[in-house]
Amino acid sequence: MSKYVYLFKEGNQTMRNLLGGKGANLAEMSSLGLPVPQGFTVTTEACNVYYENGKSLPEEMVNQIYNALSETEKITGKKFGDLSEPFLVSVRSGARASMPGMMDTILNLGLNDVSVEGLAKKTNNPRFAYDSYRRFIQMFSDVVMEIPKSNYEKILEEMKESKGVENDTDLNAEDMKDLTKKFLKKYTELKGKPFPQDPKEQLIEAVEAVFRSWDNPRANTYRRLNQIPYEWGTAVNVQGMVFGNMGDDSGTGVAFSRDPSTGKKELYGEYLFNAQGEDVVAGIRTPKPIKDLEKDNPALYNDFVKSVGILENHYKDMQDMEFTIEKGKLFFLQTRNGKRTAQAAIKIAIDLFNEGVLTKEEALLKVEPKQLDTLLHPQFDKTVLSNSNPLTKGLNASPGAATGIIAFDAERAKELAQKESVILVRVETSPEDIEGMIIASGILTARGGMTSHAAVVARGMGKCCVSGAGELRIDEKNRKLVVNGQTFNEGDWISIDGSSGKVYGEKIKTVEATVSGDFATFMSWADEVRKLKVRANADNPKDASVAFEFGAQGIGLCRTEHMFFEENRITAMREMIVSNNEESRKKALDKLLPMQKEDFVGLYKSMRGFPVTIRYLDPPLHEFLPSGNDEIKKLSLELNLPFEELKELIDSLHETNPMLGHRGVRLSITYPEIAEMQTKAVIEAAIQVNKEGLDVTPEIMIPLVGDVKELELLKKVVKKTADKIIEENNSDLKYMVGTMIEIPRAALLADEVAKEAEFFSFGTNDLTQMTYGFSRDDAGKFLDDYYDKKVFEADPFQHVDQAGVGKLMKLASELGRKTRPEMKLGICGEHGGDPSSVEFCHNLGLNYVSCSPFRVPIARLAAAHAQIKNPK
Ligand code: PEP
Ligand code: MG
Repeated sequence: MSKYVYLFKEGNQTMRNLLGGKGANLAEMSSLGLPVPQGFTVTTEACNVYYENGKSLPEEMVNQIYNALSETEKITGKKFGDLSEPFLVSVRSGARASMPGMMDTILNLGLNDVSVEGLAKKTNNPRFAYDSYRRFIQMFSDVVMEIPKSNYEKILEEMKESKGVENDTDLNAEDMKDLTKKFLKKYTELKGKPFPQDPKEQLIEAVEAVFRSWDNPRANTYRRLNQIPYEWGTAVNVQGMVFGNMGDDSGTGVAFSRDPSTGKKELYGEYLFNAQGEDVVAGIRTPKPIKDLEKDNPALYNDFVKSVGILENHYKDMQDMEFTIEKGKLFFLQTRNGKRTAQAAIKIAIDLFNEGVLTKEEALLKVEPKQLDTLLHPQFDKTVLSNSNPLTKGLNASPGAATGIIAFDAERAKELAQKESVILVRVETSPEDIEGMIIASGILTARGGMTSHAAVVARGMGKCCVSGAGELRIDEKNRKLVVNGQTFNEGDWISIDGSSGKVYGEKIKTVEATVSGDFATFMSWADEVRKLKVRANADNPKDASVAFEFGAQGIGLCRTEHMFFEENRITAMREMIVSNNEESRKKALDKLLPMQKEDFVGLYKSMRGFPVTIRYLDPPLHEFLPSGNDEIKKLSLELNLPFEELKELIDSLHETNPMLGHRGVRLSITYPEIAEMQTKAVIEAAIQVNKEGLDVTPEIMIPLVGDVKELELLKKVVKKTADKIIEENNSDLKYMVGTMIEIPRAALLADEVAKEAEFFSFGTNDLTQMTYGFSRDDAGKFLDDYYDKKVFEADPFQHVDQAGVGKLMKLASELGRKTRPEMKLGICGEHGGDPSSVEFCHNLGLNYVSCSPFRVPIARLAAAHAQIKNPK
C-alpha cells in the first residue's frame, strides 16, 4: 500500500519532491523545535494519483487522510466539529517549486453550525467566530464549488447599507451571525443542497479543489514560464489554524531574514495586528514595518529574531517566513528560501560566502542565471531623470526601469504590447493578471505592500514593479488614472523606477547597463569555475562591443545578411539579385565588397583577438526585394529595369516554403560568386587588422549543409579565393572553414561532413524546425494548443528538446569527433542563452555556446552551474 499522507513530525527537508517545498519545510521546522501549528501533508504523488483516478481521491487515500486527522486531533487536543475544543484547519497547496499565488488556499475549514459556537465560547468572541464562519463559507464556495464571491459580497454590501455603516469592522456579533445565516441560505439556493456540515466532507472536497488548482490556467502559464514539469504535482498541507485576528494581542505577518530588494543583512517584513494572513498578502490593508514590533512587543520581537536566526543558519539561505501571533504566542506557518531581486541575490550570495556560511560553488548556485536578465537591461538615464519631477512615489518592489504606455488590465496589456511597451497599472493585482504581467515592461499598483502578490510575482519574473503608490486614483472601469491633479488615459506614456519607487508621467530615456561592483565579482567567480566558453551572436561592431563588455569570448555567429539591409547597401544587393548573368552579378558584388570588409574589420576589432565566426549569406533572396507595387516601381527606376520585367522576376523568386527553399549553402551552389565576395572581405579584413597587431583567425561558416558534397564544393571556392589573397599579401593568416549542423541529415552523417568541416556549430533554430517538421515562423499559431493539451510543456524553440533534437546533437558530436578528435563544437541557435540548454551543451562536451549579447552573463553563470553539477 502506498503512503500518501505524512504527519509533519514524520517528514523532513530531504523529502521535498514528495511533500512539496512547504510540506518539507513545515516538517523540518517542527523537528527544529520551532512553534509550528501541527498538521499533515498529502503528497505530490497523491496529486498524480488523483488525476489518474479520474479526478477523485481513492478510498485508501481518504482513509489515510482521516487517520492523519485523528492523529493531529490527538496531538492538538482539539476535535473537528467540536463544541468545546473545535479543530479548524487551513488547506494549502505546496509544490516542489514555489508558485506564489498560483494555486488555491482554504482557511477556517472545520467550521459548521456547532463548532462556530465552540469557537465563540473558547475565544469569548462571537463576532470573531461568525466573521470566520462567513469568510469560510465564501472561500469554500469560491474555491471548491466555483460559486463567484460576488454573490456574497453583494449580501455584505446590502447589510452595511441597511446598518448605515461603511466598514466591515463596524458590524457587530449579531450582524455577523445574521450575515452567516444569509450566506448559508444563498449557498443552498445556488447549489440546491445545504452547505456541508460534516468537516470531514469539507476536508476531502478542499483537498480535491487544491489538486484541481494544479491544472488551472494561471498555474499552467506560471509552470511554462519557469519550466516546472506538470508531472511534479502539488502536495496539500492541512494545518491547524491559529488566529491573528483575536484582538490586539494577535497579529500576522511575513518577514524576510534579509532585505529581498537590496540583499542588505537586516530583518525585513511587515505585519498587521488583529488580521488574517490573507489581509497582508492581498495588500488590502497597508501593513506596518516589522521594526515596529520591537516597540509594540519587545519580548516577542526578540523571540522572533532568535527563531529567524535559527532558520537562516539551518537553511544557509535568506528565509521568507509567514507567522501569526495568537493571543501573544508566536507561530511559524511556513518558511522558504525567499524570492529576491537579482541585485539582492548576488549580494546575499557574496555575503553568505564572506560570512563563511557557503562555499563559492554553493554561493554561485544561489543565483538563478535567468534572474541576471534584470541587471542587463537599460536603466533610466540619470541626467534626464534629474530634470524630471516624479508624479508620486510608491514602494520599490522590484528594481529596474520601465517606460511604456498605460494599460489598465491584462487583456489590454496584451493588445497594446503588440505596438508599444506597456506598463500594467492596477489598483492591486490578482493572480489572474499573470499573462498581463508577463507581457508588460513594468507593473504599477496603487495598493499592496512589498510582499503583495504584485511585488512577489514581479520579483520572481525579474520585472520592474512599483507597488502601493497610494496617491494614484485608478478608475479601472473608465480607464483613467488621476494623480496629484493630472489625468492619464489608457495609451498615455508613463515611467516607473522599481529601484526608487518613483513614478513619472512621461516617457524617459534609458541607458545601457554595465557589469560592475558585486555583479562583476560574482561573474568572475562563475568564470573561475566554468569550462564551457561563451560567445555572442552579433552582426555589427556595436552589438559586438556590448557582448565584449558582458564577457563574450568571441563571436559564434555573425549573420552577414543583416549587413545588407542597411539603406546604402540594399540597392547594391538588389542589383546583384536581379542580375541575369555572372558578370553583372560580380559588378554588383564588387560594390558590396568594401562595405562588407569594413564590417568585418569593425567586428574583429571589437572582439580584440577573440575568434569571430562569420556565417555566409543564408536567407532566400526574395527577402531582400520589395513586394508592394509602389516600391517595385521605385526600384525599377533605380535599377533602370522595366517594371513588368522586375515584377516578373520578383514573382519568380517567390517561394512556397521559404524556410526549406533556396537558401543557405544552396545559394552559393547556384551563385558561387557570392561566397567569393564574402571570402575576399573576410580574409582581406583579417589581414588588415592583423597588420595592426591583432591575432585573428577567422572562422568561415557555411549554413544549411545537408550533404558533404555541398560543403566540399563550397570549401574549394573559399580556399581558392582565400589562399590567393593570402599569397598575394605575403601573409601567414590562418583561417578555418566549418559548417552549421541545422539539417537532420547533416547530423546523421556528421562523420562524413567532418571530413570537410573543421568545426561544427549547431543551428538549433533550424535543427528544431526540421526535426519536428514544423516551421519556426508559424509554429506559434498552434503551440498554445499543445501547451493547453499538455502535448508540450515547453517551447522547443526556447529550450532544446533534449529527447529528439538533443539526440541528434549528441550523435553529431560523437560522429564529428570520430573523424576529427579535436574538432571545435558550438551552438549558435537561440538556445545558446537558455540555462537548461546551456547545461545540456556542457554535458554534451561542446566547447562553447553562443547567444545574444544580453544573454552572455546568463550563459556564463549557467555554464558555471553546469560544471558544479556535473564536473568535467
Ligand atoms: C539556427 O538555425 O539555429 C541559426 C542560428 O541560424 P538562423 O537562425 O539564422 O537560421
Ligand atoms: Mg539557421
